[in-house]
Amino acid sequence: MFEKVLIANRGEIAVRIIRACKELNIRTVAVYSESDANSMHVQMADEAICIGKGPSKDSYLRIDRLISAAEIADVDAIHPGYGFLSENAHFADVCESCNIRFIGPSSRAMNALEDKQISRSLAKKAGVPLPPGSEGIIENEQEALTVAKRIGYPVMIKAVAGGGGRGMRVAHNDISMVKGFHTCRSEAEKAFGNAGVYIEKFIENPHHIEFQILGDTRGNLIHLGERDCSIQRRNQKLIEESPSPLFDRKEFRDLRKKMGKAALKIAEAANYTSAGTVEFIVDDHANYYFLEMNKRIQVEHPVTEEITGVDLLKQMIMIAAGEQLRINQSDITVRGHAIECRINAEDPFDDFRPSPGRIDMYYAPGGPGVRIDSHAYAGYTIPPHYDSMIAKLIVWGKDRREAMERMSRALSEYMITGVKTTIPFQQAILQDPNFRRGVYSTNFIEQLLGGGRRELIEEKA
Ligand code: ADP
Ligand code: ADP
Ligand code: MG
Repeated sequence: MFEKVLIANRGEIAVRIIRACKELNIRTVAVYSESDANSMHVQMADEAICIGKGPSKDSYLRIDRLISAAEIADVDAIHPGYGFLSENAHFADVCESCNIRFIGPSSRAMNALEDKQISRSLAKKAGVPLPPGSEGIIENEQEALTVAKRIGYPVMIKAVAGGGGRGMRVAHNDISMVKGFHTCRSEAEKAFGNAGVYIEKFIENPHHIEFQILGDTRGNLIHLGERDCSIQRRNQKLIEESPSPLFDRKEFRDLRKKMGKAALKIAEAANYTSAGTVEFIVDDHANYYFLEMNKRIQVEHPVTEEITGVDLLKQMIMIAAGEQLRINQSDITVRGHAIECRINAEDPFDDFRPSPGRIDMYYAPGGPGVRIDSHAYAGYTIPPHYDSMIAKLIVWGKDRREAMERMSRALSEYMITGVKTTIPFQQAILQDPNFRRGVYSTNFIEQLLGGGRRELIEEKA
């Protein structure tokens, strides 16, 4: 097993990784930017090294500085967390060539799933259904119009390198197609340094269902069931749960098995090792389509941990150290129900505008079945440079009903002052009759905001 691990990330995921290392008796090295000097991950790690200024490109994205830090601290391995360099095959290669283990998939597996278009081809070869779409990257507007005509509007224009819900737009006709094609390309170039876009059919009222994968370096590969992440705002997840209430409906009952198998096929085709997630969308007629594979630990992994009892971070570390996976597919049993709310420092009453600044008062909920993954505390100043997520509130209940009651109770206990948060919005979702019935798709929030429910949310606040 490793003796010392460097965490090339910040925020709640850095804290989560440190916790896993501590339980495995591994020493930890935090890296941080000048704006993160007071961050919890710096306090929690055994050692901490400053790697540059606040903006990520001057610190958390600097491969040279991360490697220097790793060499100075003499670590055995680096955990990249999510975002930043987590899915960067070049970074994984540099680590390995410096004799530092990268805690994640091999760079070969990452290359096999390098971007969304390459992943689509891999899924096609593996026989997994895809939304109808273009064969490759779309080079010009004429080609875009031809593809759109073939598959029929509405379509989605998506950046091959997109992520975090950014880099995609819907087109309903030729005019919005031409406009969308050019804006999507230039936005993708700016945001991801890659202007490549492709087109796929826009699936209406879809459900976002994903499967958690774990594979070791000795050929063992399992999935740990699904997560439903259909509660999204602007293609960004806000609440996740498992098991998915969709699979309770009669027409969808067979899907869990089929999609679990399809997820394993994708991972197998990529020779995938470590933790990863295969994302799908499901339409109202129980058709499922592959979206992408996330080659890293995901934000919402605790939901799976709560219902399976498997510590995904520890598994990732043990797999990277060359250990054999000691869990078989038949060992995976689901117990109860888990829900996660992503608590963002954003103002839900002002179009979810980021709300960085100092947290004056902080009281986190507790009691049975409540888990908080967070780097926040009273007196902490949220820097403006990064993602606005400051905490994840995860609850477990013996069934969905108990989990919802618990989430609602926990949200009402959560006290954060000084900055605005998404808590009142999530509280309103928990009260919504359709959410409570488990009947929702990715349009849910749009409908909630459009349907005059704004008052309800304000009332809750
Ligand atoms: P998950 O798939 O784990 O639910 P998200 O899509 O919310 O995660 O992304 C997790 C984090 O990684 C967020 O901070 C997001 O901004 C960042 N991220 C994901 N993909 C990319 C990308 N291609 N480029 C930049 N940031 C990304
Ligand atoms: P990201 O890399 O940003 O996570 P994804 O391809 O995983 O991008 O898509 C994120 C979300 O965008 C999905 O969960 C879904 O809500 C929406 N989406 C993506 N592709 C489609 C599609 N073809 N039809 C309908 N919705 C889509
Ligand atoms: Mg995705």
